[in-house]
Amino acid sequence: MQLGGHRLNGVRMVHGRHEAMVPWPDHADLPSHAVALRRDVLDTELRRHATDAGARVLMGHEATGPIVERGFVRGAGLAADPELAAGLPRVDSVRSRFLVVADGANSSFGRAVGTTRHRNWPYGIATRTYFASPRSADSWIESVLGIPDAAGNPIAGYGWVIPLGNGTINVGVAVLSTYRDVRGVNALKLLDAFAGRIAERWEFNPSATLKAPTRFRIPLGGSVSPKMGPTFLVAGDAAGLANPFNGDGVDAALMSGRLVAEVLDEALTTGNSTSLQRYPTMLSDAIGQFDKVGRLSARFLGRPIILRPALRLGLHSDRAMGAVLRIAANELRDQRPGGAERAYAIANTIAKFAPNW
Ligand SMILES: Cc1cc2nc3c(=O)[nH]c(=O)nc-3n(C[C@H](O)[C@H](O)[C@H](O)COP(=O)(O)OP(=O)(O)OC[C@H]3O[C@@H](n4cnc5c(N)ncnc54)[C@H](O)[C@@H]3O)c2cc1C
Repeated sequence: MQLGGHRLNGVRMVHGRHEAMVPWPDHADLPSHAVALRRDVLDTELRRHATDAGARVLMGHEATGPIVERGFVRGAGLAADPELAAGLPRVDSVRSRFLVVADGANSSFGRAVGTTRHRNWPYGIATRTYFASPRSADSWIESVLGIPDAAGNPIAGYGWVIPLGNGTINVGVAVLSTYRDVRGVNALKLLDAFAGRIAERWEFNPSATLKAPTRFRIPLGGSVSPKMGPTFLVAGDAAGLANPFNGDGVDAALMSGRLVAEVLDEALTTGNSTSLQRYPTMLSDAIGQFDKVGRLSARFLGRPIILRPALRLGLHSDRAMGAVLRIAANELRDQRPGGAERAYAIANTIAKFAPNW
């Protein structure tokens, strides 16, 4: 799939006065750059890919609830939006042998088939907006750590600037729910303050947002269960799969989609629905331990007494900043293990013995 987009060479990590340009980590199987892509462009391409493979896409239709027959989910009731589905054929329901729940972070469909979020596991609170900036062609994401809350304490989270290459930049802030003072954090005000602080550097007017800021809650680290039922599988944010270190979830959503396709292909080819039971194990093999380490780290980093020295020690050099990025992006190296790999190995060992939260 050729998607175009704006090429990004790495992350400029900023903590106080210290800045490090950290190129995207080297990885045997992954490109050495990232791409900023507008969400509607990605969505359109994914839809095209699906229709080319034979899927029927019903635009403007909402899945209102599961169709349950003798205790098994066998499809979904649908409601067409009069505007979005104007001129398109309306469909009231879809019946199917198996169903994939992929309705995102709020996942009301998931709740209707019985998924729940582990209430005491970490989640992310993210707020984002867009500004016009002459620095939109910059090829480095900026990630600012240790940004202060209203009381001046560094939050467990980060601020970001993503240049989009089209005259605009995406500016946002993410906070972990484990942050000790999270209840006192007003995410929109935090974004306002962050935008004000970086406006001069990025040459934009902080009061001229191009879109009203939006606030989202992101379930992290596999925090929604179950991941399957006898006739359904749960993927992406609906399964709470976003990366617990940075809240990124597109990668995990696509990865879970591929696993879902593999399992369903097998179930449909062999006629044996027990194939679905492999899915939670496949997910766990792919990201289960990384998620556990991430959730554990989120617990510790939520405490200022740990966060402050971690920021000071962890971000004292370019190399240390590179290590932080390799862990956060889940791009650890099998060959040439360095500080990131060693630090992760220690956290991994601790996580193995820690309770599952
Ligand atoms: C502010 C913010 C910034 C982020 N930035 C990044 C980033 O830079 N990189 C990254 O990797 N991740 C990022 N993420 C996380 C990422 O957006 C998600 O993890 C990812 O989109 C999950 O994909 P998904 O397909 O599971 O869910 P979604 O992308 O939420 O897709 C779910 C889809 O289902 C549709 N839907 C919902 N309910 C129904 C229904 N009942 N019937 C029919 N359709 C329905 C929705 O309209 C939506 O189109 C960000 C999240 C936030 C909140």
